Amino acid sequence: MKILVSGGLGFIGSALIRSLLNNEDYQILNIDKCSYASMPEALEGRESLKNYSFKKIDIKNASEVESAIAEFKPNKIFHLAAESHVDRSISAPKEFLDTNILGTFNILESIRGNFSNLPENFILIHVSTDEVYGSLKFDESLFNELSSYAPNSPYSASKASSDLLVRAWNKTYGIKAAITNCSNNYGPWQNPEKLIPKTIFNAINKKPIPIYGKGVNIRDWLHVTDHVEALIKISDTHENYSKYNIGGNQEMANIDLVKEICSHLDKKIPIDTSYFDLITYVDDRLGHDLRYAIDASKLAEDHNFKPKYMIKDGIKETVDWYISNLKWMQSKII
Ligand code: NAD
Repeated sequence: MKILVSGGLGFIGSALIRSLLNNEDYQILNIDKCSYASMPEALEGRESLKNYSFKKIDIKNASEVESAIAEFKPNKIFHLAAESHVDRSISAPKEFLDTNILGTFNILESIRGNFSNLPENFILIHVSTDEVYGSLKFDESLFNELSSYAPNSPYSASKASSDLLVRAWNKTYGIKAAITNCSNNYGPWQNPEKLIPKTIFNAINKKPIPIYGKGVNIRDWLHVTDHVEALIKISDTHENYSKYNIGGNQEMANIDLVKEICSHLDKKIPIDTSYFDLITYVDDRLGHDLRYAIDASKLAEDHNFKPKYMIKDGIKETVDWYISNLKWMQSKII
């Protein structure tokens, strides 16, 4: 089984590769452009494995993507390479369009160009986000796989566009594909620009912990290892085209999540005052979606998937991991 992972030096991609490498029968090729968000250290010790290889490739470069796919002839591609931070997409959207839309187009065209040389049953797993569905009111029912797309940020618009390209390449050219829309992930090796590691880093360094608006915005949270397990299960589907929401069914307001982290830190590394005192409300993010929440029952039914982590335990474990990796976090602060 040959598996190509794009964006395998990122937060979720590296977790996926760590999990796939548990199976010695898998040959893994990781392609990643090594952007600021990449973390080769998350795969430390794996570089020398016989069944792992890495190529520095920017998916915007069509010919490099094409050669990698033509030479490796994967059975599966997990496509995760993307610009992923909403705030960056608001201040500088172009790279999001270039990587997330054109990069996905390059991957699809490279598959199409090599289709007859790829193994039978080749599948593309396109890893996307629940943010493509837009925002829910507090009392609205959950997004399911048939909910319409209504992205509100340049990031989510670029991901929504890439989902639609994957769908079209399946319907038009018959490329077998699964599109997955997952809720917010947390766990080790997440770039400290994101809410959870940023909160931990600022708290430990006794800096203000910024929280947008009133902190009421709700997200559904899933541990990254649960996400990875779901992706691997979905990749074994026999369906020619499928779409799955992946979520933890664990909604939490941002302020409650931050307080949960502060409360754990208060016990773990007590200070004279409390980490709660560092919470600082800042101007809301432009176009800030109020609530994301998804119905992941299709995944549960089709693939017998149930997240292993409950958010409260997962958060404690995650905080402990970042405490043990403070130097690494410091090295990622730009
Ligand atoms: P990340 O930012 O941590 O990692 C992205 C990786 O892609 C990095 O290693 C980066 O170097 C690489 N990359 C960026 N541009 C590239 C390019 N042009 N060519 C090749 N490689 C490039 O992101 P993540 O959090 O691991 O997210 C991975 C995927 O999962 C993304 O597609 C994202 O939209 C999706 N997703 C993320 C979450 C989440 O909560 N983090 C939730 C749902 C879906």
